[in-house]
Amino acid sequence: MSERSTEKRLENAKRRGLLVVYTGEGKGKTTAALGAVFRALGRGYKVGVVQFIKGKWKTGEAKFAEKQENLDFAAMGEGFTWESDNLEVDKAAARKAWDKVDEMVRSDRYELIVLDELTYCVHYNFLDIDTILGTLTHRPERLHVIVTGRDADPKLIDAADIVTEMRKVKHSFDQGVPAQLGLDY
Ligand code: ATP
Ligand code: MG
Repeated sequence: MSERSTEKRLENAKRRGLLVVYTGEGKGKTTAALGAVFRALGRGYKVGVVQFIKGKWKTGEAKFAEKQENLDFAAMGEGFTWESDNLEVDKAAARKAWDKVDEMVRSDRYELIVLDELTYCVHYNFLDIDTILGTLTHRPERLHVIVTGRDADPKLIDAADIVTEMRKVKHSFDQGVPAQLGLDY
């Protein structure tokens, strides 16, 4: 067996899918998750990103995703009726998005899945934490999952392998500086 394929075998034997949570009040949660996406794509891995955010505008990351063949990107603003003042409609949209995540996880096609701002859906009772953990704890063994958003549920923190809390030391928003293209979105 060549040295190269032995190396590959060792790498695969070491591989273990981790559940990562980026939470807290400071800036950097989504950015950190997208950094891991960048890395995984660099390794030739298949990556899925689902953004549980309101709003119709396209983020820089959504635009970038269009050009990446190994990156499946879905934002709730498009394709889902998330932009509404009707809580029941929002709830239905969140459930529909979760069905999509469940399908992605079960497909066993991905090495990394990012669930951006998922914590808000739990916080506002659009999604049930036990349903979420049911999917995430039965994921394929090699699949890494990153969840971002403030106010992460204690059950999610308990189930996670890595939890990082972003702490705000300073933010330009407090000095009246609006969100900046290419840095914030
Ligand atoms: P980013 O997407 O920049 O990594 P984030 O995911 O940590 O930020 P979110 O709570 O998702 O933070 O907020 C998204 C937007 O709000 C971004 O434009 C970000 O710059 C801004 N933001 C993040 N933290 C703060 C804060 N503490 N005060 C004001 N604005 C913030
Ligand atoms: Mg974010």
